Amino acid sequence: MRKRIFRSMCLLALTAVILTSVLVSAMVYARSFTEMKTQVQREAALISVGLSHGGEDYLGALQIDYGDDFRITRIRRDGMVLFDSDAEPGRMENHLSRPEVQAVLSGQWSGEAVRRSETMDTKTYYYALALADGTVLRLASTMRSAFGAVLSVAPLMVFIAVVVLLLTLLLARRMANLIIGPLNALDLEHPERDGAYEELSPLLSRIAQQNRSIGRQMRQLTARQEEFRLLSENMSEGLLLLDRNAAILTINNSAQALLGGDADRDYASQHFLQLSRDLQLQKLIEKALGGDRAEDTLPFRGRQYQVIASPVTADETIRGALLLFLDVTERQQAEQMRREFSANVSHELKTPLTSISGYAEMLAGGMVRDGDIKMFAGRIYSEAGRLLALIQDIIKLSRLDEGTAQEQAEPVDLYEVAKQVVERLALPAAERQVAVTVEGEPTVVLGAPAMLDELMFNLCDNAVKYNKAGGSVTVSARPARDGACLAVRDTGIGIPHGLTERVFERFYRVDKSRSKDTGGTGLGLSIVKHIAQIHGAQVSIESKEQVGTCIRVKFPPN
Ligand code: ADP
Repeated sequence: MRKRIFRSMCLLALTAVILTSVLVSAMVYARSFTEMKTQVQREAALISVGLSHGGEDYLGALQIDYGDDFRITRIRRDGMVLFDSDAEPGRMENHLSRPEVQAVLSGQWSGEAVRRSETMDTKTYYYALALADGTVLRLASTMRSAFGAVLSVAPLMVFIAVVVLLLTLLLARRMANLIIGPLNALDLEHPERDGAYEELSPLLSRIAQQNRSIGRQMRQLTARQEEFRLLSENMSEGLLLLDRNAAILTINNSAQALLGGDADRDYASQHFLQLSRDLQLQKLIEKALGGDRAEDTLPFRGRQYQVIASPVTADETIRGALLLFLDVTERQQAEQMRREFSANVSHELKTPLTSISGYAEMLAGGMVRDGDIKMFAGRIYSEAGRLLALIQDIIKLSRLDEGTAQEQAEPVDLYEVAKQVVERLALPAAERQVAVTVEGEPTVVLGAPAMLDELMFNLCDNAVKYNKAGGSVTVSARPARDGACLAVRDTGIGIPHGLTERVFERFYRVDKSRSKDTGGTGLGLSIVKHIAQIHGAQVSIESKEQVGTCIRVKFPPN
């Protein structure tokens, strides 16, 4: 723009200089011409007066006087040239047709004309005057003098033009800077603050309006981006968004960590292979970028992830792929546990049922002596009892698993519960010659009374069951600094070293034959652990073979 302004101003100045030169030349020319005419007319008048006094000889004298300035011609009324200062009169053609001569002959006092003279071969001014003797006096002067005047001022005009042009160059540069300066200094962030040119104010206010609307849109966009960032960053699931060339558009921390990416590296716009070279994952991505949804369970960092790869389409064209990584490790473990549990349940149920069916078959077939019938019936009864206990425990565990056993939490005094349970176990304890005592103080926790009763019963029952004759069981319930503590300690057979944690597994029994005798199902401690979990309590076990066992349940503060 600066160049354009500069060029326009130079062009303008050049045009002005040329126009001025032409006009000045025209004016100089016109003025010189007028002066020349006046002079010719004045001289003609003087000569006519001279002629009337001096006759023909006067003209000869004049020829010497004027030299080249004027051409003097005397013409007879019939057009014949009587005298000419520049040529031989006899050789000259008839001048009757000359307009200036015609004008005089037609009665005018004088006549004039401008034309190219063949004799002088220049543009010439002719002035004719009627003389007293009837002849015509004609004076001619070439227009060279007028041109001469123009030419005489030409160097001056050229000098002026050059000076003007040089000045214009300097001024044009300055003017261009002056015009452009305020435009360059415009603060487009706050265009309305500038009052550079009044004419620009509609444009500037429009820019300001657009700035405001762009600002608003940018704020909305940033807020949305921030929302998305927060959402994806706080997702425990991995999220990966790729473009159609498998370059990373978005990746959240979870995905970056599980795919083994550097935590402080920015993977945005890098190819997926820079992050991971997992072949199975690449296959999923290829499928998704090919337009098909693909799904697989893949191991990453020691855990199992369900990876869902979906194509991202817009206007029916595939723009990229979205990958979601869901941690299914727990789900798979739970499924595995359920499968094992079902297999164990079938097995555990089958054993007593096989016995019952065998005894019943023998009874029905009359293969049992009368004296043994009672004994067989007793075995059927005890196996049926085991079966019943087993089924009851399975039902309890499934309820706990499903969460249907949940009860409204209420304050429960563990010390009171312990006393009631010990009372219920008084008979079996007496049979086994085990002394059971309760110690501690009222200890109130928030929980489900029936569940806490079950937990307490299972622990005390085990302590009695796996005890020795003359042994003891001590149940204690006490509030602790960080909640409440329940402990069941016995002086029983204990658990071999290394197996203490396994006793909480479903159907696990240290000694299957002993457990069978005591009517154990192998589910009691699983139920204890489950109930403790529901109450947010921690179960710990200490045991020494042939010395005794202590199981503690620590409840959190209410
Ligand atoms: P069960 O119905 O067989 O008693 P549990 O789940 O209650 O099933 O216990 C699992 C196993 O842990 C028992 O079979 C037993 O071998 C062992 N056990 C549990 N409590 C005690 C204890 N107080 N002393 C010794 N062994 C125990």
